[in-house]
Amino acid sequence: MFVDSHCHVHFRAYKDEQDELIKKTLESGVFMVTVGTDKETSCEAIECAEKYNGVFATIGLHPEHVIDQTFFDENESAEHHPAETFDPDFYRTLAKSKKCVAIGECGLDYYRMPEGIDRDAAIIKQKQTVRAHFDLADELGLPVVVHCRDAYADQLAINQEYLDAGKLKRRGVIHCFAGTLENARAFIAQGFYLGFTGVITFPARKTDVLVDGLTETQQIIREMPIDQMFIETDSPYLTPIPFRGKRNEPSYVKYVAQKIAEIRGVSIEEIEHATTDNAKRLFRLAIE
Ligand SMILES: [Zn+2]
Ligand SMILES: [Zn+2]
Repeated sequence: MFVDSHCHVHFRAYKDEQDELIKKTLESGVFMVTVGTDKETSCEAIECAEKYNGVFATIGLHPEHVIDQTFFDENESAEHHPAETFDPDFYRTLAKSKKCVAIGECGLDYYRMPEGIDRDAAIIKQKQTVRAHFDLADELGLPVVVHCRDAYADQLAINQEYLDAGKLKRRGVIHCFAGTLENARAFIAQGFYLGFTGVITFPARKTDVLVDGLTETQQIIREMPIDQMFIETDSPYLTPIPFRGKRNEPSYVKYVAQKIAEIRGVSIEEIEHATTDNAKRLFRLAIE
């Protein structure tokens, strides 16, 4: 049994075959945490989770949706959503669902900033929005799901601010982790979990510095404590090898586990058990 700890199985990418896909995935022994990214997709995540035993939801506002974007992701929603300002009351009400297991994805994304935008203002708004999520998670006693890209130092600082104040007792997960070894060690010391996607199955890029043939992310996987590791697909995105280029789906989380097993020189069952235990512990998943 596996847990895909971060997917978007309720997104529009699956609209015609969502029911069939979810049932097939559950039958194959893969449980899912499906992640909201704004008001609409957070509502849909909860609705989806309430329909199926073995599907759980998180709710939050993705840092890309905090600012007006020039692109539109038709795999996410049926129509373009303008920038949203985080409304704690709205999300607090949604969090009443028993299937809501965390707040997020929220975080900082300095990578995908639209051209010509006031970058400093956008970063300030993203930081305020992270804090609003952390306040809500702390109030509700829930963990957080953090999305972080090219912003690890700032994210670590915000985490530390909350931990120093005795908040965020349940911590959370930094999903699709792509920081340095040093960043990884710092999040681990803070008690956070690190999530890995199909990206770890991709061949190294020309710019990667390899140690023992491993990219930095793979070195992190080799050395980090197994009890703080999560596996995820982030589907419909980031499809692992051997399906790269096609639409991703939650059952492919097994390929992520397989790659981690290879890197650590252990059996896939060992990774399966450890990461399932981790997801159950952090999210308090009600599964046998
Ligand atoms: Zn993300
Ligand atoms: Zn995501």
